[in-house]
Amino acid sequence: MRLYNTLTKTIEEFVPNEAGKVKMYTCGPTVYHFAHIGNLRTYLMEDVLEKFLRYAGYEVTRVMNVTDVGHLTSDGDTGEDKMLKGAKREHKTVLEIADFYEKAFFDDCSRLNIRRPDIVQPATGCIDVFIQIIAALLERGYAYIADGNVYFDTSKAKDYDALSGHNTEELKVGVRDDVSEDPNKRNKSDFVLWFTKSKFEDQELKWESPWGLGYPGWHIECSGISIRYLGERLDIHCGGVDNIFPHHTNEIAQSEAYLGHKWCNYWFHVQHLNDETGKMSKSKGEFLTLSLLESKGYDPMAYRLFCLQSHYRKPLTFSYANLDNAAAAYVKLARRVAGLSAEGPIDAGALERYRAAFIDAVGQDLNTAQGLTVLYDMLKDASLGDATKRAIVSDFDRVFSLDLTKRPAEEKTPAADETDAWILQKIAERAEAKRAKNYALADAIRAELLEKGIVLTDTKDGTTYSR
Ligand code: AMP
Ligand code: ZN
Repeated sequence: MRLYNTLTKTIEEFVPNEAGKVKMYTCGPTVYHFAHIGNLRTYLMEDVLEKFLRYAGYEVTRVMNVTDVGHLTSDGDTGEDKMLKGAKREHKTVLEIADFYEKAFFDDCSRLNIRRPDIVQPATGCIDVFIQIIAALLERGYAYIADGNVYFDTSKAKDYDALSGHNTEELKVGVRDDVSEDPNKRNKSDFVLWFTKSKFEDQELKWESPWGLGYPGWHIECSGISIRYLGERLDIHCGGVDNIFPHHTNEIAQSEAYLGHKWCNYWFHVQHLNDETGKMSKSKGEFLTLSLLESKGYDPMAYRLFCLQSHYRKPLTFSYANLDNAAAAYVKLARRVAGLSAEGPIDAGALERYRAAFIDAVGQDLNTAQGLTVLYDMLKDASLGDATKRAIVSDFDRVFSLDLTKRPAEEKTPAADETDAWILQKIAERAEAKRAKNYALADAIRAELLEKGIVLTDTKDGTTYSR
C-alpha cells in the first residue's frame, strides 16, 4: 500500500517494522460531549485504513485512548478542562459524563460499522505509566518543574517542527483559542506534562505523584498508552489534521526523548468535514450528530458512503443536499446488490482479478472513491454471473462495511413488470377497455395489478395507483 505520510509530506510505500504486522494507534475521543459527524469522518476513514490493511493481508493491532482527563479547551495548556466543563453543563460528575459519552461514542461507531479497536484505554487507567515517563524525562533533562507544574522543554527536542512543517516561532501565537501566556514556560511551545496547579481549582480527578497531587496533560496520555500497549516502535499513528499541532508534535517530542530513538514511522491525518458556514464545532448550539441525521430519516450507511466517496485528504463540505445524493446512491446500490441472485457458480478467476484491481485502487493512498468505481464497473461487467458479482461485493465490503449484501430482500429492484411505466401502460389499457365497454378485461387488469400489490383508485380526474 502507498500512503501519504505527514512526517515526510510524500506518498510512500508502506512498510511496517515487522513484516506482515501493523501496530496502529488512534487518538480517541475526549468524552465530554457527543461526537459530531466531523469527528466521525476521521474515525470512519481510520476504520477503512485498518480494514484495508487487514484486507491486504496484514495482522493489525489497533489501540485507541479515551481522553477522560487533562484535555483543556484550548489544545495548548490554557482554558478549562473539557471534562469539567461537560460535567458542570449537565450537573453530573466527571466520571458519569465520561461513562455516558464513551458509550454514546461507541454506539455511534457501531451504527456506522466502525470496528472497535483491539484495545481501548481510558487515560485515567494509565496514570502510573504517565508518571513513569515524566519522571524519566525530568531525569534526562527534557522536562522541568515551574510553579508546581512539570513542563516539557521543546528546545531540547530533536527537530520539533518536523511533523507540522511549521516554523515554531510563527506558531507560537494564533493557533490557540486562548493565547494568554503561561509565564512558567521557558519556551512558548513548551507544554505541561503534569499539572498540580491550573487556572481552575476544582479539578475533580487528581492523583498522587512525585510532584504533588495533580493530573496529566493531554499529550502525555497518547504517548503513554501507545508505548504501554504497542511498545517502542509504532507503525501508524492517526488523527484529524487539527491534531498535527500541537498534539502530535508534542507526542513525538516526548516519546522520542523518552525512548531515545525514532518512535513512529507513518502519520495519517484526515482532513476536516466542514459545514456550509465553515468549521464544525461543538460549541455552536445544536451540532450535527449521527443521531440528528437518523432522526431526519438518514441511514448511517448513507453517511458512510458519503465519506467513502471523497478522498480523506480533501476537506469535505457537509450539506443536506450532498447527503441526499449519497443517500439516493446508497439505496440504488443496495437495491442493485439485493437483486443479484446468490444461486449459481462463482468465477474464482474473476474474483481474483477484481480483488487485484480493488487493492490497486484503494492501495493508492486509500483512494476509496476509486475503490467504489471498481465496484460499479464490476456490477456492470456483463461477463459475470450474479453469484460472482455478489461474492465480489461481499469481498469488497470487508473494507467498505456498507452492509451491501445484508440489505433485506424488499429493497430489491422492482421487477420489470412493476415499474411505474409498466403500471401507467396497464392503466391506459384498462381505460381503453372501459371505453370499449370490455369490463371483463378492465377487471382482469385491475386484478393483475392487485396481485402485485398495486391498488388502483378511480377519481373524476382519472385513475391513480398506490403500492
Ligand atoms: P476530539 O474528540 O475533539 O478530541 O476529536 C476527535 C477526533 O476528531 C480527532 O481526531 C480530531 O482531529 C477529529 N476532528 C475534529 N474536528 C473534526 C472535523 N471537523 N472533521 C473531521 N475530523 C475532526
Ligand atoms: Zn492523541
